[in-house]
Amino acid sequence: MLSEPALIAFRTALGTDRVFTDLAICTLYAQDETPRHVEPDAVLFPSSHDDVAALARIAFEHHIALTPRGAGSGNVGGALPAPGSVVVSFECMKRVLEFDPDNRLIVVESGVVTEEIDRIARSAGLFYPPDPGSSAYCRIGGNLAMNAAGPRAVKYGVTRDFVLGLRAVTGSGHEIRTGCRTTKGVTGYDLTRLLVGSEGTLALITEATLKLLPVPETIATLRVSYASNRDALDAVSRIMRQSVIPCALEFMDHRAIDAIRPTGAADDLPSGTRALLMVEADGAKEDVPRQIAILQKTLAGQGLLDIKSGFTHDDIKLLWTARKSLSQAVKRIAPLKLNEDVVVPISQLADFVDFIDEIAHEHQLAVVSFGHAGNGNLHINLMVHPEDRDEMARAHTALDAIMRRVLELGGTLSGEHGIGTEKRRFVAQEIDSDTMAVMRSIKQQFDPHQLLNPGKLFPD
Ligand SMILES: Cc1cc2nc3c(=O)[nH]c(=O)nc-3n(C[C@H](O)[C@H](O)[C@H](O)COP(=O)(O)OP(=O)(O)OC[C@H]3O[C@@H](n4cnc5c(N)ncnc54)[C@H](O)[C@@H]3O)c2cc1C
Repeated sequence: MLSEPALIAFRTALGTDRVFTDLAICTLYAQDETPRHVEPDAVLFPSSHDDVAALARIAFEHHIALTPRGAGSGNVGGALPAPGSVVVSFECMKRVLEFDPDNRLIVVESGVVTEEIDRIARSAGLFYPPDPGSSAYCRIGGNLAMNAAGPRAVKYGVTRDFVLGLRAVTGSGHEIRTGCRTTKGVTGYDLTRLLVGSEGTLALITEATLKLLPVPETIATLRVSYASNRDALDAVSRIMRQSVIPCALEFMDHRAIDAIRPTGAADDLPSGTRALLMVEADGAKEDVPRQIAILQKTLAGQGLLDIKSGFTHDDIKLLWTARKSLSQAVKRIAPLKLNEDVVVPISQLADFVDFIDEIAHEHQLAVVSFGHAGNGNLHINLMVHPEDRDEMARAHTALDAIMRRVLELGGTLSGEHGIGTEKRRFVAQEIDSDTMAVMRSIKQQFDPHQLLNPGKLFPD
């Protein structure tokens, strides 16, 4: 709970124009992409690393819980304020501190929008590969805290693979610097990898040194239609067994295709299309046609209906229409999307999607599945009406069964969205108690008063 002396201390440290307690502002910061809503006691807008260190020391002294926040685009309640906590918004920390094309790195404050990093990199023939669907507005601090990823992860990896080092502030207000500026470095424990994906529970990340790669010369896209989910997912297994690694390998199931039909985005798919793959290859101009030929050959098999290819910007954009129209289209099914982003081994994908069909049928739910099939990462969307209590109960029963199945198949609860508040009840099914105890003791070292993002990640 925010006391008057703590409020005065925050105002003295940051300035009165960076500390807000009025309801209008607190309401704006009460929510992320989940439907839940908890107003914080105040919202702080630090403008530098030193501001963050100062506010963390005040919070430590006065026992104030802090909820770090980027753009609030997270799907699991990660930036949802804990009751009585103070939101630390990184929106004002958006300076690019250094851009060093010779060493292929960029140093940014954690409030920089992800797409901006890629834009700057491209000005020198480089790019920043992690590409979450929200990259036009999410912030790098949120990406680091959640270890965000996107379609390119199948070839390039996730946020964690592009972090050379971090500057951060612990729960007691101490500065830590992790990693280095070089692409090799093994001095000390790898605290960088520990902080990335820690969901704001170990430290407030203030700056990041990120690795960049040269932009591939060209890219080409295939949109591949299949007669069934299993046919498409068997093709995914074949693709991941051969030598050409696609830079995107996305899947849409038959319900996703049904969802986009009313929008017209499925009009040019062959009749009988019950699953779709989007496959991309990038690289040198002379090599991409070779990669595409190999991919086409591998994609051919049981249930293949059609392969459309695109080699120009406009053609590629057209091929992605079906996939890109999905987010809006599913909103027509029901107002609320319970969005799970589970991962199963690639060889289990087809069985898992069959299981999702059975669950949808058994519980009479509208379920739309799509996702980053090349990583085995599926977004299972249960479309529900929150006012329909019976439907909500059936959805929660279905979710329990889905999570159990994911773990039985050797998968994991989340591929990129994280645990936040929404998946805490499942965590103990994946992480055993001894391992959890080690995690809790690490948390205790970084955050002795348990002030950083309470109520997230760990089960009760
Ligand atoms: C349309 C849409 C598409 C999406 N597509 C993808 C996708 O393809 N891939 C993907 O991975 N995710 C995706 N997401 C989810 C979300 O955008 C990501 O999780 C993103 O990384 C969140 O960034 P943010 O700035 O909004 O962070 P927030 O939602 O504000 O916060 C996320 C977490 O990070 C913590 N945090 C934020 N800043 C800091 C900091 N500086 N230090 C410590 N902790 C901090 C917060 O406390 C919270 O736990 C999507 C979301 C939407 C709405």
